[in-house]
Amino acid sequence: MRILVVEDERQLARHITSALGRHGHDAHAQHDGPAGLQAALAQPPDLIVLDLNLPGLDGLEVLARLRAAGSPARVIILTARSEVEQRVKGLKAGADDYLAKPFSMEELVARVEALGRRGATPTAADLLMVADLHLDVQHRRVMRAGRAIALSPREFDLLQVLMQEPGRVFSRTELCERVWQRDHEYDTRTVEIFIARLRKKVDSGFPAPLIHTLRAVGYTIRPP
Ligand code: CA
Repeated sequence: MRILVVEDERQLARHITSALGRHGHDAHAQHDGPAGLQAALAQPPDLIVLDLNLPGLDGLEVLARLRAAGSPARVIILTARSEVEQRVKGLKAGADDYLAKPFSMEELVARVEALGRRGATPTAADLLMVADLHLDVQHRRVMRAGRAIALSPREFDLLQVLMQEPGRVFSRTELCERVWQRDHEYDTRTVEIFIARLRKKVDSGFPAPLIHTLRAVGYTIRPP
């Protein structure tokens, strides 16, 4: 994968690019917000590892501008453990995953490759349907009432899991495991943010919502 690393701590940036390089990726680093944004727009990478605290333009702003420009790149944000609010903002702004500092390079490479794999290899050549919502697994396309909906890779994965079993209620923990492949870290807040993002894209503007919350139980998608 072509990977852009935007991280102002130069030593950390170097460690990340060389770890990714050892795993066969083509990784380059930029060390401030404006340079990172420019590099991401000039030569669109498959995936961006984006620090949030950056000089010039912070990571949230870089992410917002990339998504506004229609960038489909998968984005993993780097946050300090204490920056819960930043992480929430990053996920709302269009990041696909996050990693809390300090992290091991093995963990970073595993996350990068999990995210890359999900985008690259569809699991089945299927067309999933719930009412007027259609999801094409192979081409990773989503339409509602004939109109295309642009989803980030993780939003797509989450919708796919829900649509594979319409009417079944999924707990936040199960969605976290199925979509983020985390066995031990049950980050249910991330699931809530992604459900909110999906609702905005899939249900808003339509008279009958398809995604439903069962209080204290989980989420389901079903026809009206
Ligand atoms: Ca930083």
